[in-house]
Amino acid sequence: MNSKQYKYLPVVNYGEEAKNRTDIEIDIIGNSSCPCCRFITIPNNGDALAYICPICFWEIDLFIKSDDETSDQNHGLTLIKARKNYQQFGAVLPNLKKYCRQPKEYEYPTK
Ligand SMILES: [Zn+2]
Repeated sequence: MNSKQYKYLPVVNYGEEAKNRTDIEIDIIGNSSCPCCRFITIPNNGDALAYICPICFWEIDLFIKSDDETSDQNHGLTLIKARKNYQQFGAVLPNLKKYCRQPKEYEYPTK
């Protein structure tokens, strides 16, 4: 693994033909809402360990039991803090915004 690669980005080999694609995450269709930004981005009914929300960049942490418990996978952020950051910066941390994308129409929460 390239150590310069961002630690939390999923490492997936899509093959040569996918090299220039920028929309590879479109292959994953969520069915559960992200605990941070609430958009419907999380696959597998939310049981998606180490999955990173493409909209807010929160990494699913199945081990935290409450919104004010710090998440090691998320730089020690709590969900409460991450939500505030998402509202303020558009990402769980300001320097992660460049990895995030706009929500797609079908990802908007129905309620
Ligand atoms: Zn999210």
